[in-house]
Parts: sequence; C-alpha cells; structure tokens
Amino acid sequence: MIKDYESQKELRDGYDFCIIGAGPAGITLALKLAGNGRHVLLIEGGGREYSPTSQDLYQCPSTGLEVYAEETRLRFLGGTSNHWAGRCRPFEPSDFSVGPPVHLPGWPIPFAEIERHLPEAMAIVDLPPNAGFKAINPALDGADFEADRFLLSPPTRFAQKYAKELNETEGLDVFINCNCVDLEFDSKTGRLATIVVSDYKLHKERVTAKQFILATGAIENARQLLNSESLAAGGIVTKDGYVGRCFMEHLNVELGTFILKEGQEKGSREYFTTDAFVAEHGSGKGNVSASLVAEVKSYGRTAAIKSFFENLICDVGVENKIEFITKFDCPGDGVIGTLIEQFPNPDSRLSLLEERDALGVRKTHVHWELALADRNTVKVIGLEMAKCFADTGLGLVKLEQCVYDVDVPLKVNPHAHHMGTTRMASSPDFGVVDENCKVFGVENLHVAGSSVFSTGGASNPTMPLLQLALRLAEHLNSLS
Ligand SMILES: Cc1cc2nc3c(=O)[nH]c(=O)nc-3n(C[C@H](O)[C@H](O)[C@H](O)COP(=O)(O)OP(=O)(O)OC[C@H]3O[C@@H](n4cnc5c(N)ncnc54)[C@H](O)[C@@H]3O)c2cc1C
Repeated sequence: MIKDYESQKELRDGYDFCIIGAGPAGITLALKLAGNGRHVLLIEGGGREYSPTSQDLYQCPSTGLEVYAEETRLRFLGGTSNHWAGRCRPFEPSDFSVGPPVHLPGWPIPFAEIERHLPEAMAIVDLPPNAGFKAINPALDGADFEADRFLLSPPTRFAQKYAKELNETEGLDVFINCNCVDLEFDSKTGRLATIVVSDYKLHKERVTAKQFILATGAIENARQLLNSESLAAGGIVTKDGYVGRCFMEHLNVELGTFILKEGQEKGSREYFTTDAFVAEHGSGKGNVSASLVAEVKSYGRTAAIKSFFENLICDVGVENKIEFITKFDCPGDGVIGTLIEQFPNPDSRLSLLEERDALGVRKTHVHWELALADRNTVKVIGLEMAKCFADTGLGLVKLEQCVYDVDVPLKVNPHAHHMGTTRMASSPDFGVVDENCKVFGVENLHVAGSSVFSTGGASNPTMPLLQLALRLAEHLNSLS
C-alpha cells in the first residue's frame, strides 16, 4: 500500500527489510522481498510527482568536470526512471575477468553471477524474452571494433508500471515524502540500530528493521553513509576509506566529424571496442556512434554567410528558397559521438560540505576528474576509429584536437550514469561493500544501485544494476 508520510504517520516497528529509495533498484528489490512473504518497508523521499521542494535536496555542486548532478537525477517515486532513455546493453564477460589497468582490483564476483539474472532484468524493463541484443549495422572489418549490440526499453517508468503491485503486494508498506536523514550505527552490536526519517515539516521518527538497504542512487548512497556521524565514530566511514571515492561516469565525447564516401548506407552506425582492442591498447571500452547531422554547424565565413541568408528570410520573405540554402546539409556530413569507459580513480570523488539542506542533512560536493589513462582511452578510440573509417572506405574523419592531443583540455560531457561511489571489493582496502553488497563492518546494511559497480565498462547501467538488485534479493531472502 502506498501511503503519504506527510499525512499518514503509520510506520510500523520491526520490519524484516527497510529499503531507502524507490527508483528502479529500490522498487525491484521491494517487490522481490515482499513477494517472498517478508515484511518490507520502502521509503521514498519524494512524492508521486516532481516537486521543487524534494528536488532541491539534490543540490550538489561540482568541481573538475561538470556533472550536472541536479539535472541528471529525479527525486520522486520511480526516481530517475521518470526520464531515463531506456537504452539497455548488458555487461560482458571481460568486464568481470579483466581488471582495470590502475592500482585497484575489478569486480570480485564472476560474470556468471550477474548473467544469470539477465532474463528477469530484461522482463522488468519490458524487453521481450529471447530478443537477443542485436547489432543495428555490420561490424567494421578488422579486429578493433565490432557492431554494438543493445535494446531499447519503451522506456519503462517504474512508478507507473509497478503502481498496482506497490499498492497491493501483501506485506509491503510504501511511504512517499518520507526522507531518510540519518543512519544510526551501534558499534556494540556492529549493526545499524535504526534510521531516522523526516517529512518536509521536519517531523522525525526512528525506524527499526532487521536489514536496511540503501537504494538512493550513486551520489546519495555515498552521501547517506558520509552524513552518518555514528558510522564515522564507529570507524566504518573513514577519511581515507572508499565511501564516495571512485565516482565514475561514461564519457560523452564528440570525437569529430566525418564525410561518408559515396554509395555508403546513410543510416546511423554504432560500434564497440573489441576485447582484442582493449588488450592491445591497455584502454577502456567504448561505444562509438556515427550519425548524419540534421543541420551542419557553420564556422567562420560560412557562418556569416549562413546568418546573412537566414536574416534575409525576415527581410524579403522568400522563405522557401532561402531556407533550402541555409538548412542544406552536404550529403554524408556527420558527427561521431561516444559512450566511453572511465576507470575507477579515488581522486574523482564525493565529499561532505558543512552546509546542510532543508532537512538538516549535510550537502555533498562532487569532484569529477579524468586520469591520464582515461585520456588515453579517448585518444586511441578516436585515432583507431578514424583509421578504420579510412581503411574500410566508409568515409573520412576529422578528429577534434582535444581527442588526440592530451595537453588540450578535453571537451567531455556526462551521460547521467553515476557509478562507483560505494564500490564492490573483496576487502575494505579497495571498496565499501562486499560480494553480497553488504557494507564492510556493518552486519545489516546493504547497498543497491550502480554505486556498487567496481568498474563501469561501457554498458548503460540500469539493466546491470537491476541484475545486481535481483541477486541481492536472492541473498537477502536466504537470510533468516
Ligand atoms: C536523461 C537521462 C537518461 C538516461 N538514460 C539511460 C539509459 O538510456 N539507459 C540506462 O541504463 N540508464 C539511463 N539513465 C540512468 C538511469 O536513470 C539510472 O541508472 C537509474 O535511474 C538508477 O536507478 P536507481 O534506482 O539506482 O536510482 P534513482 O533512479 O536515482 O532512484 C533513487 C530514488 O531514491 C530516492 N531518494 C533519494 N534520497 C532519498 C532519501 N534520503 N530518502 C528516501 N528516498 C530518497 C529518490 O527520490 C529516487 O526515487 C539515464 C538518466 C538520465 C538522467
């Protein structure tokens, strides 16, 4: 049953599981656990719809590269699935078998552990069973790039699709406008004793449960841990530990432009680095998409001419002909976009600010930076893709200088894929959660979502995070 905590103060005591955050991860977990006959509380900080009051709590300034942390998340029922695009690409065996070429280990679990949950995760985001992740175009000749394989979810809006189940599943209490504002750790028992929740009028109360699960997205999962004074006092969250570190994004870099050779198919193309390419260059993985632009950007003298013609439209009213000239695209001109892997880097991180939000929770700041290894990934993908275009007769590529010259600042945007801030590892020396997504040092606190990613590959994160949420549900259901 979905209740509004602003008006219904009906939290019970002693839930089996308390899940914080009702986005794709939290909703998936709640339905799996309650479906197994457990008493589950799912608390959601936002309401049923977008509200500035809730969204304001996502303010998070950044230094280094711009993360757009407020714009790339939504803080209400269904979370960021309320505007995700639905692109789904599974992780690959090599994401798990090959560690990153930095001083940090990769995933501590085998690929099979996530792969076995793929069919169920696909069904959750409305991908047809046995659809297969198909390539939309042929591979490029040679061993460097294969055709990328992905599927598009409708995209599934979790709050809408699962509204009936959230309302009707026996044993499940869902409270909206119910914000977690503190995690209270008892160092004598090594367990989280309670969490503190608050409505927007600052009415606060404590909630108890056997197990707690953080599912508030990668930035907030780390923020909740960093904000807890009792976890710091208990030595669980330390200055040099990994909570908040290794913030990763997928790099959205425009490599350059291309001219398609005559006779080549005009449709969009998507390529993906092969394992052989990654091994040869010691690079990360990457998706490269080449598509024709609707309108060619003009610079210098061409821009001035174009602008002159555009202004003529207003002056003399010969719209049709002028519009044809100003909007004319040279056949084959296109741009090359990317979704590129970033390696885990402890200096790319979230940290706590002294300033507090309207509910008294300390704000966070994100510093997103790229290591030289990431610049190398962008450079080799750019150079090798340009060569492939020429060698295979597909077309001619003009690369941006910042792609191949690492001394020029890279123009990079985020993909709204936040990962790595509570990374999974086999020991607290390298991460925050263990193989079962349990926080090191706390008996009953788990984390769901892409914050647990040890590495992010170049696959969109939502379907893999659902696979991990299903795996976590299996583990939690096995606990007595
Ligand atoms: C424009 C855009 C396009 C995207 N497209 C894709 C795509 O094509 N493919 C893909 O794989 N991914 C995509 N993503 C990313 C995708 O949306 C996220 O990976 C996914 O939503 C993460 O799910 P989550 O449940 O971990 O976190 P979220 O969806 O962020 O949900 C977290 C929930 O926790 C709640 N919460 C936060 N703090 C508290 C608190 N203190 N107390 C209680 N509740 C709290 C929030 O309100 C929210 O409901 C896109 C993102 C954006 C912004």
